[in-house]
Amino acid sequence: MTTAFITHPACLLHDMGPYHPESPDRLRAISDRMIAAGVDAHLLHREARPATREQLARVHADAYLDEIEAASPDEGLHYLDPDTALCPDSVAAATHAAGAAVLAVDMVMSGQCRTAFCAVRPPGHHAERSHAMGFCVFNSVAVAAAHAMEAHGLSRVAIVDFDVHHGNGTEAIFARDPRVLMVGTFQYPLYPYSGVEPLGPNMHNVPLEAGSGTEALQAAVREHWLPALEAHQPELVIISAGFDAHREDPLASLAFTESDYAWITRQLIDVAERHAQGRIVSSLEGGYSLSALGRSVVEHVRVLVAS
Ligand SMILES: [Zn+2]
Repeated sequence: MTTAFITHPACLLHDMGPYHPESPDRLRAISDRMIAAGVDAHLLHREARPATREQLARVHADAYLDEIEAASPDEGLHYLDPDTALCPDSVAAATHAAGAAVLAVDMVMSGQCRTAFCAVRPPGHHAERSHAMGFCVFNSVAVAAAHAMEAHGLSRVAIVDFDVHHGNGTEAIFARDPRVLMVGTFQYPLYPYSGVEPLGPNMHNVPLEAGSGTEALQAAVREHWLPALEAHQPELVIISAGFDAHREDPLASLAFTESDYAWITRQLIDVAERHAQGRIVSSLEGGYSLSALGRSVVEHVRVLVAS
């Protein structure tokens, strides 16, 4: 079955300055590696549509959506927090990033593909209902989960977050919503310094100390993620796919490699095949070593394609 690869040129135009690690070069590194590895030719390429106001408003407050629209600058940068800025093209990029995740849900639910990867930026998992932070403006994965439930009638969705940073925004949006199970690993202590105390019984957070690698990751997945996923029986698996836990990443200190991402992906395919007809929607979050990011996405998508 097919894997879709969804992106949009607008995502390359979001630019927070020459020294910001969340740069347009990240998407160029991914597409370059996908072509070099020969994976690109096996994908169903689709261009994202912008998420609609209604789709965004399922997880963001109306006042917040108004605030972001009003903050969009005509020139230069408008800082939403010390690490997160809007340039004139940023709102379009964030709207298409969320729209990519919506399209991915529509495509896997209609059977046009079984799995989908969204190569988009800005990332989303730190964005809360009314708050931009940590390079994130709109929470694309949360928008996707809400779309799967509201537009496609699903009653059980799982969100898996293996970014090196805790997905505080996604957790805050869905805490205590029994339809959504969230499992995650992240380095702790590290930005945003949350996640150790889960906000609800549907949140399965596994903090990992600096230096943790394959062994700690596999233990977390086997002992915490997989039992929770089996119990929840998700009809769709959504991945917050951050690759900044890679040992080469400059922003954090976990020691994952691209083969760890391939292994995680295989575990999630097994879950999706048992419960979700194989349906997986994966959306890019972090990953700031351009080389490691490109190689890791290749391994992640290669496993999706082979499923
Ligand atoms: Zn991250």
